Amino acid sequence: MQGTPPVKDEKLTTRQLRHQPRLIVNTGDGKGKSTAAFGMALRGWNQGWSIGVYQFVKSPNWRTGEKAAFAALNEVHEQTGQGGPVEWHAMGAGWTWLRSTKEVDHVAMSKEGWARISEQLANETHDLYVLDEFSYVLANGWLDVDEVLETLRNRPGTQHVVMTGRRMPQQVLDAADLVTEMTKIKHPFDTGAKGQAGIEW
Ligand code: ATP
Ligand code: MG
Repeated sequence: MQGTPPVKDEKLTTRQLRHQPRLIVNTGDGKGKSTAAFGMALRGWNQGWSIGVYQFVKSPNWRTGEKAAFAALNEVHEQTGQGGPVEWHAMGAGWTWLRSTKEVDHVAMSKEGWARISEQLANETHDLYVLDEFSYVLANGWLDVDEVLETLRNRPGTQHVVMTGRRMPQQVLDAADLVTEMTKIKHPFDTGAKGQAGIEW
């Protein structure tokens, strides 16, 4: 399966041609997959887009830098109308909207997360969804790849979805419109250096 075919309808306005839904993948072993996704979310925020971030990571405390920055941008939006709203969730030991945070079953948590995202896609809740480290959920079989792709294929409107993570399954790469593979040339971690504030989180 290929990505979305180019739009040929000549009756579409320039604005419509500039607002086609994109399924975007940042994968590979090099650094920059998540930072590129959040950079895109910054651009989207400036467009006034509603943004939903779902981090499929173990620790909800990771990447507090971006989380804090987007929380501030959400407040700017609420107070001044500039930019768009930002909703941010990390899976951690349990999604933030669930009452129990004791749940550690990755399969159950992945399903809960995807159920919410599917509902939001059906309702066109956001203009951009960042599914950070989503590749691991798919590669580990916590969610069925075909079911996920079917939901994405049927999403209404012009909602963009960005997924990050190494080992993205081939079916996702085939279905995506835009795929970038980050290639590591070198990384300070190779020589045992510690992660750097501002560079890593
Ligand atoms: P970033 O969040 O910095 O954009 P990433 O999303 O591309 O990185 P992940 O696989 O999510 O990379 O890795 C998370 C952490 O591992 C980050 O702190 C990142 O700096 C670091 N990292 C990324 N690529 C490499 C690599 N090739 N070798 C060692 N560490 C890496
Ligand atoms: Mg990442």
